[in-house]
Amino acid sequence: MPTEPESTVVTLPEAANKLITPRAPATGRIVRNESCTFGKSNAWVRDVAVDVSGTELAGKFRVGQAFGVIPPGTDENGKPHKVRLYSIASPDSGEDGHGNVMSTPVKRTIDEFDPDIAGHRRAHRGMFMGVCSNYLCDLEIGDEVLVTGPAGKRFLLPVDTERHDYVFVATGTGIAPYRGMVMQLLNGPAGPTRRDVWLLAGAPYTSDLIYHELFLEFDREFENFHYLQAISREPRTPGAKRGIYVDALLVEELDRLGPLLEGPGTLLYLCGVAGMQFGIYRRLATLGLLDGYAAPKSGVCDGSPAEWTNVQMRRGLRATPRCMIEVY
Ligand SMILES: Cc1cc2nc3c(=O)[nH]c(=O)nc-3n(C[C@H](O)[C@H](O)[C@H](O)COP(=O)(O)OP(=O)(O)OC[C@H]3O[C@@H](n4cnc5c(N)ncnc54)[C@H](O)[C@@H]3O)c2cc1C
Repeated sequence: MPTEPESTVVTLPEAANKLITPRAPATGRIVRNESCTFGKSNAWVRDVAVDVSGTELAGKFRVGQAFGVIPPGTDENGKPHKVRLYSIASPDSGEDGHGNVMSTPVKRTIDEFDPDIAGHRRAHRGMFMGVCSNYLCDLEIGDEVLVTGPAGKRFLLPVDTERHDYVFVATGTGIAPYRGMVMQLLNGPAGPTRRDVWLLAGAPYTSDLIYHELFLEFDREFENFHYLQAISREPRTPGAKRGIYVDALLVEELDRLGPLLEGPGTLLYLCGVAGMQFGIYRRLATLGLLDGYAAPKSGVCDGSPAEWTNVQMRRGLRATPRCMIEVY
């Protein structure tokens, strides 16, 4: 049981931001590159770890922040490729315990070429291969990589971790920051936390789950850590037509999650595919649980929450300090 009183005030740490910019990137070195999905999955996600010792990033990044990668070469306009961001999946102490190695799960962007998505930039056929994700996934141990960062000031664990409970919601690679956060809360220097930590992970198929075995292990070891999966494209019971999304899972687990979400110091973290926050907002509002996590601007989100559109919510709701959002 927690020993410290719950706090409604969220104090975030001062995080170093943009120490290394794309104009003057630093050089890191790949020290790990391995598949990190649960099974053979055509999501093709690889856990890539970069040693940044000797650079400004060393000892300065925090879990929840992102770092940038600049792939070599030029785009179709002949300009150098732009930086891409990747969430840091390591605790503050890094993979090595000294803040020198940070990891991230990189999902290969691979699809059939679609001119509508590409914005008719060029005539093309066949497969579309994302530049940076495939570059990173193809790197070998020892290869150099240009990095920037750290980036982000808000998607962080609070300073006073023992005064809050945590509900982490992820879709896809949005699970990245929670690996480091859970490691830090349960295995970090101040851990294990005595607060409740819930992780709801969404994926299309069970085989796509990222870091699944690690979270199962934590779930077995710590009774205050709860790991739930929302698998959307697999029938949940024989004969069922479909699976479940993270927002519906939250409703299904309301007996346990409702009282926690009502707690005045609980922090809600949402990370993953752009727009996922709206499904969660809609559910919370329908259940009368949105207060404390998103504040309405007058008039824009009137009417029944079940009818709210994403456009309405984008304009009409502002996340409070108890709700951290990182979507891309
Ligand atoms: C804060 C933040 C954190 C992130 N964290 C992670 C992370 O932890 N892991 C991760 O994998 N990613 C993460 N990303 C996403 C990452 O930055 C890249 O956007 C992603 O890896 C794709 O980059 P790419 O260079 O491979 O693809 P690009 O070459 O940049 O291609 C992507 C673009 O191509 C177009 N496109 C997509 N599909 C098609 C198609 N079928 N046909 C034609 N055009 C298409 C779209 O316009 C799309 O924007 C994060 C992003 C942000 C902002």
